[in-house]
Amino acid sequence: MATSAHAAVYKAAEYFNIKLVLIGTDEDGRMSVSELKKRMNKNVILVYASAPGYPHGVVDPITTIADVVKRWQCCLHVDACLGGFVLPFVKYAGLEDISYPPFDFSVPEVTSMSIDTHKYGCAQKGSSVLLYRTRELRKFQFTAVSSWSGGLYISPSQAGSRSGGLIAQTWAAMMYFGRRGYVSAAKNILKAAVSLRQDISAIKPLEIIGKDVTMIVAWRSTSSKVDIYVLNDLLSEMGWHLSVLHSPPAIHICITSVNVESLESLVKDVQVAVERIHAGDYNRKEGKAPIYGMANRMSNTSTVDDLLKDIQDVM
Ligand SMILES: *Cc1c(COP(=O)(O)O)cnc(C)c1O
Repeated sequence: MATSAHAAVYKAAEYFNIKLVLIGTDEDGRMSVSELKKRMNKNVILVYASAPGYPHGVVDPITTIADVVKRWQCCLHVDACLGGFVLPFVKYAGLEDISYPPFDFSVPEVTSMSIDTHKYGCAQKGSSVLLYRTRELRKFQFTAVSSWSGGLYISPSQAGSRSGGLIAQTWAAMMYFGRRGYVSAAKNILKAAVSLRQDISAIKPLEIIGKDVTMIVAWRSTSSKVDIYVLNDLLSEMGWHLSVLHSPPAIHICITSVNVESLESLVKDVQVAVERIHAGDYNRKEGKAPIYGMANRMSNTSTVDDLLKDIQDVM
């Protein structure tokens, strides 16, 4: 997987004792296929690509990755957790300038996809979809126990007992929004993304990361005079809650139907905040910037991991 793949993959690898091989990203933030080629071998069970990835909203080059996978005959998963209810609808939204190379089952090598109904499907948290190309593949997910004194047991997923209410609610959300609702949401979100990308990149010294127009707009600072984490602190003070990213230090916003109307005022506040930082009109000591800065620089990240576990424990 690329370094931009979701942290949930680390969790899965930890649970199942699978070795993760991290692939770097190219200048556009996409998985580096030349590096992938070099790291492939017969022990690789699956290549994990994103459409798009969480940090920078970048869509990995699924078709070129598929060419590599074809040679090695392993599985190819496309993480469309974020994109699954947005990207497929873009071509019906009348946005001529925005398109993506094939990223789904139309690419023959793609063996599975994940799509979060609880994100842009607008269902409640805790519902998601895992799609397999074939029933044979899906069967590996099932656990059958015929020798139990409790009777015959079959379980389709990692979770045991699950809420039927959640499934009903997810169905209701999908019926309520429908194809037309998702197309219209995709249209508003991506139109807003185009404007936001233009507006942020017009503010010096900010720079947008990645070329793909998706719901995630990420930016970094090209000047040491404007620390992006200090900018984040100042924006927090102004009432914004953006996501903080590592290597490179950056922040992003995930555009949704709910915040799309607020983006104009976000741009204004980013402008004001950058000016204030330039003018030295902000006390750096108060915010979280030193913590993020430190975590970003620490080579021994297991120390930070321990710290995160302690915080979770206290919470
Ligand atoms: C949200 C997300 C996931 C998984 O998230 P859950 O919290 O487990 O639903 C995986 N990949 C991407 C790109 C995501 O945005």
